[in-house]
Amino acid sequence: MTKNVKSRRAKGRKRSFGWVFGLLLIVLIALAVLRLGKLDLGFLHKEQWNLTLVNSYNAVPDDWKVELTELKNGEKVDSRIYPYLQEMFDDCRSDGLLPIVKSSYRTAEDQQKIFDEKTAEFAAAGYSGDDAREQANKWAAKPGYSEHQLGLAVDIDSEDLSVCSNEAVWEWMEAHCAEYGFILRYPPDKEDVTGCSYEPWHFRYVGEEAAKAIMDRGITLEEYLAGQKK
Ligand SMILES: [Zn+2]
Repeated sequence: MTKNVKSRRAKGRKRSFGWVFGLLLIVLIALAVLRLGKLDLGFLHKEQWNLTLVNSYNAVPDDWKVELTELKNGEKVDSRIYPYLQEMFDDCRSDGLLPIVKSSYRTAEDQQKIFDEKTAEFAAAGYSGDDAREQANKWAAKPGYSEHQLGLAVDIDSEDLSVCSNEAVWEWMEAHCAEYGFILRYPPDKEDVTGCSYEPWHFRYVGEEAAKAIMDRGITLEEYLAGQKK
């Protein structure tokens, strides 16, 4: 009798151990999935090309294909953003300013050259090896990690400084870019989120809906995408 009760109790204990173990496993799997999701927000590009995230942690997707449209000055952009860029520039000109696309689509080779030049500048200023590369990375992305390789980003300046300053163009762009689906991609005080220093000239196409949400709330593409995942 006593023996039977004991063995039944032992069986019960074994069963509850199974439950605890199963629950623990489910919690661990859920945590792993959440953690992975946090690291890789770039998955969104599969459905929404305009929200493709490229930064120091998210490379240009391997399967990224770009069809380019050439601007009058020889710079090229993704054909899908060309009409919006054109409209933005036309309206900016109507307001008496003279914007120009200084730099847009870049190949991995173009980006390598820019990164090497920036690294050389820091090396010449006394930084050694890894330090020079680390400093350069704050100003120029490593090849494979530049938004310019998507064809969705443009660096904008004044075409003629006797007509208007760069600052006047940047100010207009910051105020109006969202109406055309563009955002100021590297705002001041967001270096810890974007991994990039303030670049008043760099604008990125994300589409009107996302652009308005991002610019109205003064957030970054990273923060917008993280919010969408919740
Ligand atoms: Zn840029």
